[in-house]
Amino acid sequence: MVEIEEKELLAKLKTNFGYDSFRLEQQKIIENILAKKDTLVIMPTGGGKSICYQLPALFFKGITLVISPLIALMKDQVDSLKANGISAAFFNSSQSSEEHEQVFDGIASGKIRLLYVAPESLPLLQNILNQNYISCIAIDEAHCISSWGHDFRPSYKQLAFLKKSLPDVPVVALTATADKATQEDIVDQLAIPHATRFISSFNRENITLEVRPANDRVKQIISFIEDRPNQCGIIYCLSRKATEQLAGKLQKSNISAIAYHAGLSFDERARAQEAFIKDDVEVVCATIAFGMGIDKSNVRWVIHYNMPKNIEGYYQEIGRSGRDGLPSEALLFHSYADVIQLRQFIENTGNKDVQEAKLERMKQFAEATDCRRKVLLSYFGELIEKDCGNCDVCKNPPKFFDGTVIAQKALSAIYRLKGKEAMGTVIDVLRGAQNAAVLDKNYQSLKTYGAGRDIAWRDWQHYLIQLMNQGYCQIAFHLNNSLQLTEFSKKVLFEGEKIKLTSPVEVKKEERVVKKKKKEALNNTLFERLRKLRYRIAKEEDIAAYLVFNDATLREIEKNRPTTDNEFLSISGVGQRKLEVYGGEFMEEIKSFLNEKKKNKKDTTIETYKLYNDGLTVEEIAETRNLKTTTIFSHLSKLYLEGKDVSLDKFITPDILKEIANAKKVLKGEVALKPYFEFLGEKIPYEQIRIGLTILQKKR
Ligand code: ADP
Ligand code: ZN
Repeated sequence: MVEIEEKELLAKLKTNFGYDSFRLEQQKIIENILAKKDTLVIMPTGGGKSICYQLPALFFKGITLVISPLIALMKDQVDSLKANGISAAFFNSSQSSEEHEQVFDGIASGKIRLLYVAPESLPLLQNILNQNYISCIAIDEAHCISSWGHDFRPSYKQLAFLKKSLPDVPVVALTATADKATQEDIVDQLAIPHATRFISSFNRENITLEVRPANDRVKQIISFIEDRPNQCGIIYCLSRKATEQLAGKLQKSNISAIAYHAGLSFDERARAQEAFIKDDVEVVCATIAFGMGIDKSNVRWVIHYNMPKNIEGYYQEIGRSGRDGLPSEALLFHSYADVIQLRQFIENTGNKDVQEAKLERMKQFAEATDCRRKVLLSYFGELIEKDCGNCDVCKNPPKFFDGTVIAQKALSAIYRLKGKEAMGTVIDVLRGAQNAAVLDKNYQSLKTYGAGRDIAWRDWQHYLIQLMNQGYCQIAFHLNNSLQLTEFSKKVLFEGEKIKLTSPVEVKKEERVVKKKKKEALNNTLFERLRKLRYRIAKEEDIAAYLVFNDATLREIEKNRPTTDNEFLSISGVGQRKLEVYGGEFMEEIKSFLNEKKKNKKDTTIETYKLYNDGLTVEEIAETRNLKTTTIFSHLSKLYLEGKDVSLDKFITPDILKEIANAKKVLKGEVALKPYFEFLGEKIPYEQIRIGLTILQKKR
């Protein structure tokens, strides 16, 4: 038993990992492992599982053996430990026998603290697999042992022998899989029935959830990416072909993107993955083959080009964003065509009923009119009391209106088409389209033909989906996906039942010039300069950029601007070694940034003037420059007084100007804003008062 005080744990956490405090369960888990007890850790991706066994490893006499399924991942993990000054190595089939010898030397001399090994290579380690050398065994991605899950690895099956041959060595199993059956399977198969279980919440609060209809997906995606310059993200597609096509289209729009799927050669895949991990490309268009083994902490968003086939998959995929805990986004495109295609896949597989039920839950998530996070977490048996406030439904609750007439039109069209046509044709008929699908069958003579001309195609789609969800019509998947009436339909058609529908949500679009300006301004921020420095250093050391410092640490450096060793060390994510190796260069960069800023201070109103002349609104200028709108108004006022061509009149009505003029008389030309604010009954905002006074001053 290793008795260690909390103080000591925290000291090591800071020196070797750079963090000041533990996250939720980490400390308890670490204490449990140090007490040599078997441990099961269930924590979502990004929760911070690694530290749970890496920190105890620093206290044990022997090495901590880490079983990891992916060779590609090991190097990254070892690099990460080394960057923090922790001696670690990996052992797998990709290495030469000399490299293997080196590892053995490191173990014999007691230098190595952690050894990463693939399960297949365990037999080669026979001579060190005893309690003299090994103090702890960590099994990462432990769900791979379970044949229930989709990541099943036969080589994990033999791992029970570890506990049997090293009974006093604690085994720590870690996974992000929430599934109960899998959890039981893990403790069972690893022969650790009495493992203490630590199960964390699956709520990843930092990930914003959003679902949009899939019209013009590519356009929407390009715009989404352009709005987020210099950010990395993953786009999941259903087919290999789609990943390549999409990557091609993005490249044409000057977006740094590549495709990744299981059809590529091993080398091509490795190269694509490496380019993404090292920040050489920003966007990967991938099938679900991509992801496990992506530890990259600065993935800022995940887009689902197609709907995933179940919530487990969706959750796992979006979980690859925001591992560093900073705000991240998950955007899902929902299309009925996808649902139909997924259903066809399911038709040809084994346990069809289960899969259909899972798809149905996925669909419910995509079509939710309540907080999406509630729907998501309830799937994993976790209930949250309050709405999350960080999903599209919470931020922009659906507005219901009386959709009875719309419903009547739609259902009567379906009725007149005798339930034989799929959604596309139903909408064409409603909109009075003149295409072959309609004219060939003489549908232009139907009574409902053109009855819904006034509603856009995509809006009809939106309404029909809602009618389906409310049970007023249904898709006959076995009959060419035709739309048919249901029991409920007649209530609407003949019994005057009222229907509530929601309006489609408009996606806000930004002007191209605004985007361009924003990007330019962004490139001058301290964060970008730190990011470029990080990229350069990573290149020199041939490691992934996020291993130098993750985004959260970079953000904190940006905010606190440390210029001394002590200040730098106080940043979360900076440990002793990172201070020594990287501190100097980063602090230099900060100092030179601060100096330039001082020099440029005079030019700040000129900068606003430039953007104003480019046609940006005050809000846009503020956003671009990362300043408050009140600051921008004060710039504009100053420019106006200097005689620059700025028209302030459009920001104020003549009535308010009159009120301010009146106040000015009463207040005898007072210059401070507050007296005006109070005199005017606190109803005219400060910005307006400032503008009013500026105009009056100039007039005089
Ligand atoms: P997981 O393996 O559970 O997906 P990681 O171990 O990769 O998660 O940790 C995710 C991120 O969180 C990493 O960037 C890691 O450095 C960071 N992290 C872990 N523990 C802490 C902590 N106590 N304080 C701050 N950041 C932490
Ligand atoms: Zn919500």
